[in-house]
Formats: sequence, structure tokens, C-alpha cells
Amino acid sequence: MSGDYIASIGLETHVQLKTRSKIWCGCANAFGSPPNTDVCPVCLGYPGTMPVLNREAVRLTVMTGLMLGCTINRYSKFDRKSYFYPDMPKNYQISQYDRPLCLGGAVEIEVNGARKTIRINRIHLEEDVAKNNHFETASGVDFNRAGTPLMEIVSEPDIASADEAFAYLQALKQMLVYGGISDGNLEQGNIRCDINCSVRPRDQEALGTKTEIKNMNTFRGVHRSLNYEIKRQIDVVSAQGVIRQETRRWDDDHGVTRAMRSKEYAHDYRYFPEPDLMPVVLDEADIARWKESLPEMPAARRERFVQDYGLPDYDAGVLVADKAVADYFEAVAQAADNPKAASNWMMTEMLRWLSDQDVTIESVPIQPAQLAALIRLVDEKVVNMPGAKIVFAELAEKGGDPRAIVEAKGLAQVSDSGALDAWVEAAIAENPKSVADYQGGKKAALQFLMGQVMRASKGKANPPMVMDALRKRLDP
Ligand SMILES: [Zn+2]
Repeated sequence: MSGDYIASIGLETHVQLKTRSKIWCGCANAFGSPPNTDVCPVCLGYPGTMPVLNREAVRLTVMTGLMLGCTINRYSKFDRKSYFYPDMPKNYQISQYDRPLCLGGAVEIEVNGARKTIRINRIHLEEDVAKNNHFETASGVDFNRAGTPLMEIVSEPDIASADEAFAYLQALKQMLVYGGISDGNLEQGNIRCDINCSVRPRDQEALGTKTEIKNMNTFRGVHRSLNYEIKRQIDVVSAQGVIRQETRRWDDDHGVTRAMRSKEYAHDYRYFPEPDLMPVVLDEADIARWKESLPEMPAARRERFVQDYGLPDYDAGVLVADKAVADYFEAVAQAADNPKAASNWMMTEMLRWLSDQDVTIESVPIQPAQLAALIRLVDEKVVNMPGAKIVFAELAEKGGDPRAIVEAKGLAQVSDSGALDAWVEAAIAENPKSVADYQGGKKAALQFLMGQVMRASKGKANPPMVMDALRKRLDP
């Protein structure tokens, strides 16, 4: 049944900008301070106070617009949006209505190997509101968040599934972190979004009636709520029911969306130009300079990893997904002068270790220079791969000098042919059947003999040299 319907999803993504101070005042833009300590009369909304625009918030919004290929409005302004709720005592939020900073643009996504372009409608700048905290017998309002610069990225309804919405948010988050726009920390509420969702029969051109799911703060929640909401709407429409235009709330515990209230329209907000702020007029020279300073984006970096380091496209994609992991990889690749080995260590031992320990790469004791030194020890045949993995485990726990660990643990690879020959002779003498099998054409028997030598050497024999010695001894 669902094959007969198409979903159209648009996301309004709110991003807290990484500025030092708030958008209208000098209070710290920080997370985790005791409640109501990063506040002043301006961000508490006292009557008679005047906002002063933080230019850094404008720069970060325009940088985002440049990264997403938007048109930057040279003339932009702020508007008051009427709003009545305890988290906003001014009873209005300063936002942007008809002249946002950025228009158009797009985000490229990839789902199951298929690429798709999600168009952006606009990006505007506004202030975040305070946070209501509900306790057992009372509620409190924490104004530390009030006045945090908030950028809203509004997509066109080009997203057609929960998977695409997830990929869109991932791609957006990567770019924002790469660009230094936001820390992208979801636990701290750096990225939150509202979802617009409608369905329509495949042969119908006009979009169906949409519902809005508000205040999603995890990507997983967006994915789950969309899967639920798309199915709910298809069930209603295919039973000849009517979708009501309304705001819904995602109930994560029960895995359902629930109706909250009928949807507001723009005229309900009574927007009008903010009289206390001058319009924002952008300088061509500033825009040119900011464009110049754009960092390399994840897609370009992935391409470069494939071209310059000869990595498989998949591996490059995994490495660039987290900017810190990609930075770490590049540091190791250059210091070891062996990008292939650096990539292999990152893709296997490092990512496994991070996932087992549930930590990020920033908190790993092993430094890029140490991993590079370990790679060099393998390249110089001082230690073989099984030994190197033991060294890695130690380094990952507490750092240190790889060569010292090799010596302390007695892991130095034995490449001395006298010692190797003795182990090879012993293996041959003790396993006449395998020798006969190998000489009779069973190539796998050589692996068994190899294993016997490695065991006799406690894993320290140089494997290619052992293989050579066995062949030399057994081949006609
Ligand atoms: Zn303040």
C-alpha cells in the first residue's frame, strides 16, 4: 500500500552558533553553567533594554550560506515575532521574516549509494529562548540559553523518507562542524529540528496536508517519528480519512506522534520590523573574505582522500564523517609516510577501540605521532602485525613509546635466519604428514606448518621470511 503514496518532508533545523557571547548582549554563550548565571537585563528581557547585534553570529550564518551555495542577501533585517510563553518574557522573539540572510542553496545526501539534492529555502538568524525545567512540584525557567544565537535552516519538502531525513541531518551536521559554525553536540541541544510531513497519492501533483512535529533533538528521534508519521498519514488517507493541519508531539517512550494543537499560520505571529536594530547591510569585501576562508567540506575531503592517498571511496567516507577522526588520520598518514597503513589502522583497531570504549578520538591517549611510529616499526620489520596489535592495545590504554613497549614486552620480530631455520626444521621434523600433504599438492598444508613456526616463535617470527624458508626447504 505504501508504494502508492509519496511522502514530502521539510526540515526546519535550528543550530546554536559557536560564538563566545550571546546575540544581543555580552553574556557568555556557554553550556552547563549554574541556572541563571549567564544572564543580564537584555537577555532576561527587561523593558527598556536595547539589543546590540553580535556580528560574529552574522558571519557564521553567512559562512553557512556560502557552504550550502545560498544567495547572500546584501540587505537583511530583523523582525519581531509575537510569542507568549514563560521562556520569553519580552513576549516576542527577534527573528527574520521577509529578508533573511540567505536564500536558496542545497545539501547533497547519499542513501544506500544513491545521491540526491535537498534544496534549501532559506537560512535566517534569531535568538534562542530560555529553557523551562519541570520538577516534581514546580517549574523553573533557566535564562542561560536565552539570547543564544540560533540559525534556522529551512529545507524545501524534497525529503521523501526517514532515511533521507537522517542522511540530510548527518550531512548538515558534518558541514557545520567542519565549518566551525557549531559544535554539533546533540546532547547539549546544539541542533534541534521541526519536521513538516505530508503524504499524497503517487499520481497526485499537489502536496497533501502537512503536520508539524516540533522540537526534535535527536536524529534517531527524527527517523523514528517520521517512520511512524508517514505510516499514520498513509493509513488515514487510504481509509478516505482527512489529515488535519496540526502540530504534533513525538512521544519517544510509546513511539507515536500525538496531536498538540492546530497549526499556527504566519499571520498569527504578527511579524513587524524590529525597531531597535538597524538592518544588516553586508559589505562585498566581507563576503569575499569569508568565502576565501571557507574550509574544505567533507565531500571534497573524501574526494581528496581517494585521489591523494589512494583510499577506497568507502573508507574515505568513513574517515571524513567525523572531522576529528579525519584530522587524526591525516596526521598519522603524513608522519608515517604510509597513508594506506594509517587508514587500515584507523578503520580497524582505532574505530573498534573507540566504539568499545564509547569515547571520541579527542580523548584517546595514543597520539598520532605514536601510531605513526608504530606503523614505521611494522614497515621496518621490527615488529610483525600480531605484535603491533598488542602494542596498539597498550598505547590506546595509556600512550607511550611504541619501541619501548616492543622491547618491554619482548615483541621484537625475529628476522635472524639462524633462529628461523631452527624453528622451520623443527616444524618439518614434527609434522611429516603435513610435509607429505604439501609435497603432494595440498597447498593449505603450508599454512599449517607456518602456524607451527609462528607458535614456536611465540608469534615473533617474521612471517614472510618463514614462508620463504619453508618454501625453499620443501619445494622441489
Ligand atoms: Zn545577557
